[in-house]
Amino acid sequence: MADGEQNIFMDAIRRLDKAFEYAAIDEEALEKLKHPNSILQVSIPLRMDDGSLKIYKGYRVQHDSTRGPTKGGIRYHPRVDINEIKALAFWMTFKCAVVGIPFGGAKGGIVVDPKKLSRLELERLSRGFIQKIADFIGPETDIPAPDVYTNAMIMGWMMDEYSKIRRQHVPAIITGKPIPLGGSEGREDATGRGAYYCIKELEKKNGWKPEDKKVAVQGFGNAGMNIARLLYNDGYRIVAVSDSKGAIYNENGLDIDKCIERKKITHQVNHVYSRESFYEYNMAENISNSELLRLDVDILAPAALENVINSNNAEDILAPVIIEVANGPTTYKADDILYAAGKLIIPDILANAGGVTVSYFEWVQNKSGFRWKLEEIHTRLQEIMAREFNAVYALKEKHNISMRTAAYVHSLTRIGKAIEAQGTSKYFLSKGE
Ligand code: GLU
Repeated sequence: MADGEQNIFMDAIRRLDKAFEYAAIDEEALEKLKHPNSILQVSIPLRMDDGSLKIYKGYRVQHDSTRGPTKGGIRYHPRVDINEIKALAFWMTFKCAVVGIPFGGAKGGIVVDPKKLSRLELERLSRGFIQKIADFIGPETDIPAPDVYTNAMIMGWMMDEYSKIRRQHVPAIITGKPIPLGGSEGREDATGRGAYYCIKELEKKNGWKPEDKKVAVQGFGNAGMNIARLLYNDGYRIVAVSDSKGAIYNENGLDIDKCIERKKITHQVNHVYSRESFYEYNMAENISNSELLRLDVDILAPAALENVINSNNAEDILAPVIIEVANGPTTYKADDILYAAGKLIIPDILANAGGVTVSYFEWVQNKSGFRWKLEEIHTRLQEIMAREFNAVYALKEKHNISMRTAAYVHSLTRIGKAIEAQGTSKYFLSKGE
């Protein structure tokens, strides 16, 4: 087992100590952020299509609400566990602060392999989860969203269930909904798009020519697919993509539009080229996920699950730039190895913040009753990502620290100031001066 897998939450909070040195905030704020506000565990009974009953375990963790209601997705995965959800909720607090949106952090999950459920079972499970957590969440307290293996339709069911319980229409309870049910334009590709805007800022700084740059994307779900598509449309050479079943590689670059089209039909990227004679003219090689991570590319984009870059493979990573489209793909130890090797990591809390930023736009639209156009969403998202990317980059240069530590300094300063504004010992123990 690689480092970080035993207790991913402890691994996550260790990053704060490094950043604390550079953030001029009170130690009490730091201590507060090491403990999640509240943790809920529920059991969801599910009547299966064959008449049998199965019980599923679900969690919702609210990490910190100093800067606003807590916000974060719900994932469905057989390996969901409480430490993982705590780490993910913690990252959400810092992610919202990095981009300056008025939310704290939360996360939820159900221990389930959704691919093994029928569509009706999936709907009943999603509604069952909301029945169990309805008193814990709310449009002004804790607002869920999609995450790994959940999607817009599931958010729509959840919003409907919550509205039934409250006997009123409450679209602002959840974000990432289908557009006809109050979802926002531009939410679907927002996570990949936010990461893409980070790469565009780096491109400007370094004077890159997209066609000279080779990219490998690990994970071809919503976020991975969208960053691949946006970079590909700009001329970047996407040489490899992967999903949980395997990876494909072509050093001249893959046709990403075709990959997306076929993936949507076959649900497997390694079927895209190898088993489809139609694409033989553009034959790609089948490689493994671990080979993909070690490819000699300019940009590596881990866009799937946590801990894929760990102390077992960090030394073999050749890419000089790593953009963390997934949450927590790099363990603490691997981070040190990569930093010492001179790699630039655009950390998850910044790189994938586009999703929650457009979730914030969705929440604002739901609360105000207005609808924004796609161009407006893109302009606002681009402005935020570029501004915060450059603020983090400037901190990295100023203190000669990693982008990750800089991102934590940036967010810790914002959260710390909010905690301090409520008073710390320094205030309460001083004699009124
Ligand atoms: N699950 C996404 C994340 O990890 C989105 C969260 C949200 O939109 O609230 O950032």
